[in-house]
Amino acid sequence: MRRIPSRHIIGSIVLRAGNSSTKRALAPRQICSEVAAMIISCPHCGPRDSSEFYFRGEATPTRPEYDAGTAAATGYVYGRINPAGPQKEHWYHAAACRSWLLVERDTRTHKFLSVTLASEQGR
Ligand SMILES: [Zn+2]
Repeated sequence: MRRIPSRHIIGSIVLRAGNSSTKRALAPRQICSEVAAMIISCPHCGPRDSSEFYFRGEATPTRPEYDAGTAAATGYVYGRINPAGPQKEHWYHAAACRSWLLVERDTRTHKFLSVTLASEQGR
């Protein structure tokens, strides 16, 4: 049986046996084990985990005309509806087919209600 030395150096980190009274204790990690996977059914690739996708945001804002003014530009950049319920969003399938998707997701339940190619919607 190998004895653990009272002081062991790994790289630039010094580990000491026993607890130090001068160091603060680490906060317990908050691990949520009940988070359901968000599965998006890509029209090209089929059901995939949402970690393969890039979330762009709400799909409802439309870019104002060039001469629409500062208020319209500010509303386009910062104004979001953020509904509690179904919302249309843009997602990009970065890990596979690299397609932009127009997704309708319920923001309360994170259920995906519909998924279509953004190119089919003209947006
Ligand atoms: Zn895909």
